[in-house]
Amino acid sequence: MVANYHLFWLLQLFLNNLLKNIEIPLWQMPMNNLDFIIQGSKFSITPDLLDKYNRQLPRYTSYPTAPIWTKNTESINFPLLFKEKLRATKDQNISLYIHIPFCKTRCSFCGCSSIVSNNPETMGRYVNSIIKELDFLQNRIDTKKIKINSLHWGGGTPTHLTQTQIEKIQNHILKCFGFSKQPEISIETNPDISIEMLGFLKDAGFNRISFGIQDLNETVLNACGRKFADIKKTRHLIDHARSLDYKSINIDLCYGLPNQTKTNFELTIKNIINISPDRISLFNFAYIPQTLKHQQIINPDLLPCSEDKLSFFVNAINLLSEAGYDFIGMDHFAKKEDELCLAKSKAEISRGFQGYSAKPLTHLIGVGLTSISSFPNLYVQNEKDLESYIKAVESGNPAIIKGFLLSRDDEIRRWIIQRIFCQQFIDKIEFEKIWCVNFNDYFKEIVFNELIKDNLIINSSQRFDVTLFGRLFLRNIASIFDKYLDQKSLFSKTI
Ligand code: SF4
Repeated sequence: MVANYHLFWLLQLFLNNLLKNIEIPLWQMPMNNLDFIIQGSKFSITPDLLDKYNRQLPRYTSYPTAPIWTKNTESINFPLLFKEKLRATKDQNISLYIHIPFCKTRCSFCGCSSIVSNNPETMGRYVNSIIKELDFLQNRIDTKKIKINSLHWGGGTPTHLTQTQIEKIQNHILKCFGFSKQPEISIETNPDISIEMLGFLKDAGFNRISFGIQDLNETVLNACGRKFADIKKTRHLIDHARSLDYKSINIDLCYGLPNQTKTNFELTIKNIINISPDRISLFNFAYIPQTLKHQQIINPDLLPCSEDKLSFFVNAINLLSEAGYDFIGMDHFAKKEDELCLAKSKAEISRGFQGYSAKPLTHLIGVGLTSISSFPNLYVQNEKDLESYIKAVESGNPAIIKGFLLSRDDEIRRWIIQRIFCQQFIDKIEFEKIWCVNFNDYFKEIVFNELIKDNLIINSSQRFDVTLFGRLFLRNIASIFDKYLDQKSLFSKTI
């Protein structure tokens, strides 16, 4: 009996030591289904289904997507096409985007076109180039007939400029262009902004403001190299912006960051709900360290896995819905009385490079480094290198380096993809009225069966609908209409 006991004990010791030295990779561990509830409906995702749809795909802020745009060729001269488009734009409201790339420091998760600079001389030269680019536009646009209905300053951190620099650009825009009635004039900032700057921006004509908060947890922000702003400071800023009567206050959050857990991210969402912004943009962290080299300092072991990311997102959808926010498109939430929500109910919502908008974005002119302009059948993008951009603008030319001229087929597919992201359905009769082709005939090559089988879409003779479950996979659904989809391009994963 004693001998048997010793044998058993030795065997147990041996097995324990063996297991201690073997780390079972996560992908070999048996995984359970991921069960969750979205807005009251129950869903279950098997590990295979998660794997099937967790693909590297574009976000479709444009179609065709930027990796397939081309440089100027002998047959296509994009600066020339851009000038022609400006001249041909008549009786049309436009959107104007001003890009300010500068930031005090770089956050490791950043996916924007940003430059770390605290050099007043560099920023001053850049401001002068923006002024020159605005002059170039003013000379080519019929400013008596064309009005701006939405002006957006993005970055980088536009509020990293001095008040004098911001005023110089803003006054020049007001001098060069007229505005439509009730224009949207918005600016992006981060929690570093001062109370005084908030007041200055309101006086300078901004009526909407967006705060890039990302998370309220100190360990998460520390792991991203980002200065921590606690809930008290954030609330103080938002309350002050509200007291200044900004019409729509947005907060950007990001899920999938290092050190995020279901518990700490849930607390962030609850705290943000208490602060009560009008809109929340909840972005999926785009982890592409092969392309964005600064992301290589992130320790991948600290990143939540796909199942966790999906559960953070679904949990956030439920918390925000319960708090009265409407889930808009892929990743935006707005209060019922916010104009984004009203635009959605009237099927007037648009989606572009800066996210969802209540204004149409058919004619968008981008000013500044890397800025994109888009017209019904043309995209053009400015220089990505700061010195090349400044040099090009100083020579009196557009700083355009690449673009894409859309065919009619591209325009049709872009319309479809916009509908998927904005309305989540396609009325096939409306489609036929607009494009003079039958949806089912036109897309007869596309196989929808897999998406139907997996409960992502319903495809009837007169409608194409994204299901509530399919809302989690809009990029996958849109990708079936993308005829250029190239799996070699490095996009972020969908989950
Ligand atoms: S502040 Fe915004 S734009 Fe600047 S580095 Fe951080 S995430 Fe990027």
